[in-house]
Amino acid sequence: MQALSSHLSGRWQSGSGKPATLFNPTTDAPLATCDTQGLDLGAALDFARTHGGPTLRAMTFAERGDLLAAMSKAIHAQREALIELAVANGGNTRGDAKFDIDGCIGTLMAYAELGKSLGDRRFLNEGSPVDIGRGGRVQGHHLRAPRRGVAVHINAFNFPAWGLGEKAACALLAGVPVLTKPATSTALVAWRIVEVLVEAGVCPPGVLSLLCGGAGDLLDHLGPQDVLAFTGSADTGARLRGHKRVLEVGVPVNVEADSLNSAVLAPEVDDATYDALIRHLHTEITQKAGQKCTATRRIFVPADRVDEVIADLSERLRGAVLGDPARDDVHVGPLATRDQQRAALEGIAALRAVARPVFGDAGTGAPVGVEPGVGCFVAPLLLRADDPARADVVHRLEVFGPVSTIMPYDGTATGAAALVARGEGSLVASIYGDDRKWLEEAVLELAPWHGRLTLTDAKMAEKAMAPGMVLPLLNHGGPGRAGGGSELGGVRGLEPYTQRCAVQGNGPLLSRFFGVTTPEG
Ligand code: NAP
Repeated sequence: MQALSSHLSGRWQSGSGKPATLFNPTTDAPLATCDTQGLDLGAALDFARTHGGPTLRAMTFAERGDLLAAMSKAIHAQREALIELAVANGGNTRGDAKFDIDGCIGTLMAYAELGKSLGDRRFLNEGSPVDIGRGGRVQGHHLRAPRRGVAVHINAFNFPAWGLGEKAACALLAGVPVLTKPATSTALVAWRIVEVLVEAGVCPPGVLSLLCGGAGDLLDHLGPQDVLAFTGSADTGARLRGHKRVLEVGVPVNVEADSLNSAVLAPEVDDATYDALIRHLHTEITQKAGQKCTATRRIFVPADRVDEVIADLSERLRGAVLGDPARDDVHVGPLATRDQQRAALEGIAALRAVARPVFGDAGTGAPVGVEPGVGCFVAPLLLRADDPARADVVHRLEVFGPVSTIMPYDGTATGAAALVARGEGSLVASIYGDDRKWLEEAVLELAPWHGRLTLTDAKMAEKAMAPGMVLPLLNHGGPGRAGGGSELGGVRGLEPYTQRCAVQGNGPLLSRFFGVTTPEG
């Protein structure tokens, strides 16, 4: 069996403990092992700080952009092989695997383009200069300078490629080296991506390190200039935030955690708008077997349309074949691990205390092309809760599988927002409506609870993307339960990796240094 090592301090290294095993969640067959015990993680961080950091900081944004473009191209050259690994280790259909891997390739390329547009600078100006003395003689400027530490990226099991790429793109463009740690259970794709980059000689020493397996004592070695970015469960997020060393030296922590994303249908919508809702809900329930942080978990529909939405969505879900994701006729693969399957089935049982199944068997289904009892399958499931105000568990429990709950609301934007807010902060909400006033009210009501909103109306319904698609130029992250983090969003994505510093002094001198001359009041 393949033993996956870590790439630390500029070389491949293996641990000396009891290895963890990675499985194929369709067949339960073991695929690979990894082990990080005994690795010198303090030395690995030091190597990145002393080799990768200076190299990146000496580069302009355009040069860092070239690095990201080279990474993107090297990964793209191995796209087919990576898709196969994602099918085997992640239980992904080919479509699911492309979503992850192309997302990685595309996000790196989008940040490469951003680097080109930022040009030959090495730090960011923030806003215009401020006149703090008479006649512009004394001014203040704000700059964002790359932090002098390492960006430690701890990723979730569901997007081993995209998670690596989206976080790395932002940190590297900011000028900060990366140590990336994929979730152990699905690490094969991330490991191969780093191997591809090492083989291609794309990243200078210390620019990108890989910890493949358990985190060990990694956080004990963090320093005051390091940054920690995490995606995963709220419990682990809270543990990392409260880590003694993180608190001691004030390491900034960016968290993407659980999220009970909502879809809201306005009253009296055009057919095209309604059709987009049904299409998007189908995508959000079935894609990646519902294992997306942005998947729609709660569906709010005016009370008089609940039956209609259930009928139309069920009709589409009937065509979603569950089974071996390597088969072309299969649309929904297994969950990534036995633990995830167990957690999802337990979650469904908890939801059933307040909601009843209206589509699906609320269990493991009858997957095609798989021996009975084998694999980590959960069948697509639509639940209905008629009293959302009392269905507390639906608003707080993220069942990480192909599961969503439909609920009635009173048709007002404020009524919908009050129920959506019961989720206590989410990554994204999708709103489907054609009345401008209603939409405006819904946006203002929902925005404080979300990092992103998608609005679909009849005029653009055919082109509207499903809300689960995270875009490099738009913010990704959400308040409250969603972790309070913020990633991507174009140049905003560099913020966690840079330090804002106000510089006040001789106006003309600073203007020359910053290349900005217009004072602001
Ligand atoms: P998790 O257990 O929180 O693990 C996420 C990452 O944190 C993994 O890389 C894991 O490494 C690492 N980790 C765990 N304990 C750590 C520690 N003490 N120190 C440093 N790193 C640590 O989450 P999961 O198993 O991936 O998913 C569990 C649940 O989280 C899902 O069911 C879902 O509800 C939620 N989730 C949310 C999102 C989102 O983006 N919103 C994404 C995925 C999952 P190991 O794998 O080596 O343990």
